[in-house]
Amino acid sequence: MLLKRIKYRLLMLYRSFYLKFGLRKFLLQNRYGERILVFHGIDAIGETRYNSRFFSKKYFEKFIKYITTHYNVISLDDYYQKKFKQKTLNIALTFDDGYLNNYKYAVPILEKYKVPACFYITTIHKKAPYLWPDFLDLVSFYSNKSDFIFEQNLYKKNKNEFRRKDNVSIKKAAKKLAYDKLELIYPIFDSEWKNLLPENYEDYWKLMSIEQIKKIADNPLFTIGSHGETHANLTSIPLKHAKKEILSSKRYLEIICKQPVEEFAFPFGYYTNELADYCIKIGYKKILLIDYNTTDDKKNGTFQNRFVMNPYISMDLQIVCLLKNSYF
Ligand SMILES: [Zn+2]
Repeated sequence: MLLKRIKYRLLMLYRSFYLKFGLRKFLLQNRYGERILVFHGIDAIGETRYNSRFFSKKYFEKFIKYITTHYNVISLDDYYQKKFKQKTLNIALTFDDGYLNNYKYAVPILEKYKVPACFYITTIHKKAPYLWPDFLDLVSFYSNKSDFIFEQNLYKKNKNEFRRKDNVSIKKAAKKLAYDKLELIYPIFDSEWKNLLPENYEDYWKLMSIEQIKKIADNPLFTIGSHGETHANLTSIPLKHAKKEILSSKRYLEIICKQPVEEFAFPFGYYTNELADYCIKIGYKKILLIDYNTTDDKKNGTFQNRFVMNPYISMDLQIVCLLKNSYF
């Protein structure tokens, strides 16, 4: 009897949630429109302990299946040409950073469902196998150091962050620096950081090889774009360095892919109009952001803002937020 009652309650709970979700989706129909989604990493289990950017391959496939069944998933080219369907959500997919796990887990699923996508590569992979923001995430969580000095500042460990006296974290401070300064953080953790890596670290931070980038570029479903050279915040490093990153990453990827690279996604989504103008001047035709700086930028057809996927919420809630075009 008790079991029956529990079962009944669970059924009601399930139904009320299902109805709520169905109803919410119904009420959000008028929010249909266009979204470009940003993914970072896809891994075997959806590990979010080290950062907030990973989805499991199981979730990813379920999500792709759902959006291809219920909505209109299109290429970024079609998106820019406004080849939208009415009364549905028009979705284009993008992947930032250039992780090996994109090639290993996302590409086979995208191929299976014939879903187009664009991959924005950080070309530092020729020099460093990992990105510095991932390195800092790792050491912030797992280093046994209690403090260290970097750029004449003392950083002390406080919970899962190294912070300066003025409370600024190393991750925040690093966002202001160009790579020639940033790379000096690596030797500070030299004696311990490789031991801190989890066994399956390649699934998380390792960047794609030249061969893997080329294979993606050769597939007509996919395009390769640039995400800069070092993942530095291009708006806070000297203009000359920022321009060099924008140009050299394009040239480098064009040599690998043997085709024009015409898409640029600003690292962290941070941009200035001066840098965006430079992108256009040297031949980028699509500029991908996270949020527009101004409403004027919204009217500029070259710029597109994007919706960053959130691995901490259920798929139902993710769809609701996607329809709302907001997490609030
Ligand atoms: Zn990025």
